[in-house]
Amino acid sequence: MADTKYIFVTGGVVSSIGKGIISASVGKLLQARGYKVTIQKFDPYINVDPGTLNPYEHGECYVTADGCETDLDLGHYERFLNVPTTRANNITTGRIYLNVINKERRGDFLGKTVQVVPHITDEIKRNVKLLGSKNKYDFVITEIGGTVGDIESLPFIESVRQLKWEMGKNCVNIHLTYVPYIAAAKEYKTKPTQHSVKQLQELGIQPDILILRTEHELSESILNKVALFCNVSKDAVIQSIDVPTIYEVPLVLQRQKMDEVILRKVGLEAGQEPEMKPWHNFLNRMNAATKQVKIGLVGKYVELQDAYKSIDESLFQAAIYNDRKLDLHLFHSEKLNDANAAGLLKDMDGLLIAPGFGQRGIEGKFAAIKYARENDIPCLGVCLGLQCMVIEFARDVLGMADANSTEMDPNTPFKVIDLMEEQKNITNMGGSMRLGAYECVIKKGSKAYEAYGKEHIQERHRHRYEFNNEYKSKFEAAGMMCVGENPDTGLVEIMEIPTLKWFVGVQFHPEYNSTVVNPNPLFVRFVKAAVENAKKD
Ligand code: GLN
Repeated sequence: MADTKYIFVTGGVVSSIGKGIISASVGKLLQARGYKVTIQKFDPYINVDPGTLNPYEHGECYVTADGCETDLDLGHYERFLNVPTTRANNITTGRIYLNVINKERRGDFLGKTVQVVPHITDEIKRNVKLLGSKNKYDFVITEIGGTVGDIESLPFIESVRQLKWEMGKNCVNIHLTYVPYIAAAKEYKTKPTQHSVKQLQELGIQPDILILRTEHELSESILNKVALFCNVSKDAVIQSIDVPTIYEVPLVLQRQKMDEVILRKVGLEAGQEPEMKPWHNFLNRMNAATKQVKIGLVGKYVELQDAYKSIDESLFQAAIYNDRKLDLHLFHSEKLNDANAAGLLKDMDGLLIAPGFGQRGIEGKFAAIKYARENDIPCLGVCLGLQCMVIEFARDVLGMADANSTEMDPNTPFKVIDLMEEQKNITNMGGSMRLGAYECVIKKGSKAYEAYGKEHIQERHRHRYEFNNEYKSKFEAAGMMCVGENPDTGLVEIMEIPTLKWFVGVQFHPEYNSTVVNPNPLFVRFVKAAVENAKKD
């Protein structure tokens, strides 16, 4: 295919109506037709990346294999497309300004006044085109964060306008809006959609395709009305009705021939509708699963829907690959203690101890781990989850009262988890952790080896602290084994208690690379162990 085609996904009316899922679904449909697709997200905030934002602000921070802390929508892109994203796939206003200001300091602008138009918009456009030209993608889908009309997203919208003007048919704008139902009047209201399209038009963009997010089926007359008043052809008004899982959204769009509309707009032959077999297989297996598996997720952000997004999705996928429906129970680690853990956790088939930072809620994680270890409940510890497994074992089994991570207590007498050497001189917080994919060599015969089926794996990381190798022999002598290590540094990546049914902690984040067609093996095995545990009751 000659030119890369660019699709811009904007949102109107309200935020949180699923631009990320829509972008991922559009990408999936085009990929299923054999095109090479990537999806990029622009976030209009000033932070250079979301790595310094806490989950209350931003939900989960997703980490790419090349070590960039990014928006959680990139997780959706990977889960849908099964193609890794990179740091080029998430750009913030802060990143754009930083690049422009660095260029200004270097003197690149040769004495010119540096302005939003053209310098900021040029930098935005450069970042859009970079993905297309460098990687030879057929389609670059760019999701613009925020809602049209926000002051902050104006430079992005202006850049889209310019790109549409420059590239004509090679650019398409999909605008996602919300059509509310007013129960008292028993009516759907399209006025907010009309207003938000007007706003886009005022900014010089005529949307090519409208997606109306709605709770129930919209009538033909409503769709006709939206087409007429928004200046969009009727077949390009698509509805996105709420469905039980996000993984059904591509099919909702496919049924309305959304991919064909896009191809026609960019001047490409539609051809045969793809079967999407692997996707259907996944959904069929999902719908066929009747029995449940009960997994308890122990963390301090459980009240936040998006804080553990990739873990939730990985568990969901792993459950389906075990022919089970996931019954996820959330346990706030601040509310768990040794006295109530058994009572609260007794019905769980397996426990997942969440990643995190800082002291808050840590004691509850120890209580959940102790309960799992003493009652042989399958347990997966992720990052801080592994570190808590280590601390709990040191305190309760090795008799090292007050053992801790130096993150929680710098003066602990037993620094079983300690700051990594390379972290000791770092003062800046942004992008300075051990980030991204690193190799791990797994010992044969371990539970982890059984899961991955190979010795060499790569998983992604986001941490500053590590297991203190000085204590390795003490832990192993008492039955907690180091079964995965980084081959270059000896950093401990995986620990297990082999005498238990399934008790595994990992320093990395397996949840970042679990996709619909390629679920993460560790999650699949963990859930399998939980299913087997349930059977024994
Ligand atoms: N706070 C721990 C560290 O920095 C764990 C980080 C995490 O769970 N992502 O090492």
